[in-house]
Amino acid sequence: MRPHAMKSFVCTLQSARVVFGVGALAELPRELDLLGVRHALVLSTPGHADLAGRAVRLLGDRATGTFSGAAMHVPVAVAREAREAARRLDADCLVAIGGGSTTGLAKAIALDTGSPIIALPTTYAGSEMTPIFGLTEDGEKRTGRDSRVLPRTVIYDPQLTVTLPVALSVTSGLNAIAHAAEGLYARDGNPLTALLAEEGLRALASALPMIHRAPQDIEARSEALYGAWLCGLVLANAGMALHHKLCHLLGGTFNLPHSETHAVVLPHAIAFNAPSIPEALERMARGLGHPAPAAALYDLARAHGAPYSLRALGLAEVDIDRAAQLAIANPYWNPRPIEREGIRTLLQNAWEGKRPG
Ligand code: NAD
Repeated sequence: MRPHAMKSFVCTLQSARVVFGVGALAELPRELDLLGVRHALVLSTPGHADLAGRAVRLLGDRATGTFSGAAMHVPVAVAREAREAARRLDADCLVAIGGGSTTGLAKAIALDTGSPIIALPTTYAGSEMTPIFGLTEDGEKRTGRDSRVLPRTVIYDPQLTVTLPVALSVTSGLNAIAHAAEGLYARDGNPLTALLAEEGLRALASALPMIHRAPQDIEARSEALYGAWLCGLVLANAGMALHHKLCHLLGGTFNLPHSETHAVVLPHAIAFNAPSIPEALERMARGLGHPAPAAALYDLARAHGAPYSLRALGLAEVDIDRAAQLAIANPYWNPRPIEREGIRTLLQNAWEGKRPG
């Protein structure tokens, strides 16, 4: 028994049906049949059009067509075009093969049509586990929650991730780790999300160095995808705080790249929150196998070729003040109260790429 009393909690774990395994892509036709749907529209980015074609060949007459125009942050114009394609092709199901951008596009269609989504993730971003959607118009990203956009089925096939470039694998893995790290101090977290987060951290922290050494290693790829699943579940079931707000702001206002920004900011957000999150730090330390989580996250990024400064991502030093101002403009919950000077220091340290602690 742990020395402190169990805190009270509420837990309604929201999840898709999960089919996990090397070669699980082959289960796609069966999963479509289980949902009772007949006309799948297969979505991908332009770079993954060949993979979408593979899915179409597998599905045979269960596929009604492809749309390979998915783009980062789901621009409204792309969502509109994809919705029209879904209507024209009489699609009753959306198959999303790709990372968060492709899953995001499927969500934008489902928000309109209510069609079920089958997601086949090829990165570690975790969007496939969440009812969270995002749409971008005139440079502004609007996000929301709607149960219609939560995929009904997720097929995790580690083989689909072996082509993910090493640099993107590391930053995408750190993006997943960020969901688990913030989930550990979420106000609405519970014992189950804490277990998922700790195990997700462990799996990814052990898999990323192996992927860095041998990107084709299917065991390492399986371990990372397993970790990404757990971290995505945490994202869906526990509220995020300072780290995710900062990344959203830096991506939306300063156009910084998604997973790279997560990789740079995370050690500094954890260092900022550290005085207020002793229990979460204990779990992070266990998951990461290192007594100082903020420094461990910085080392994990830096030792494996991920960017470690906002300067390297193209943020101008003069923009730090504006970013700090925007970060405190709309108040939100965080375990340590947010004040301008502390956030400015955090951003300055992240910009310079200092090792926390
Ligand atoms: P992404 O989907 O934009 O993919 C990045 C690039 O990598 C693309 O060019 C893609 O074609 C390529 N790629 C993806 N998988 C590959 C593979 N296996 N092999 C080779 N190339 C591959 O990147 P992402 O980081 O997965 O997603 C980022 C987006 O997802 C952002 O818009 C973010 O806001 C969103 N997101 C949403 C949620 C949510 O819950 N709604 C969660 C996480 C991320």
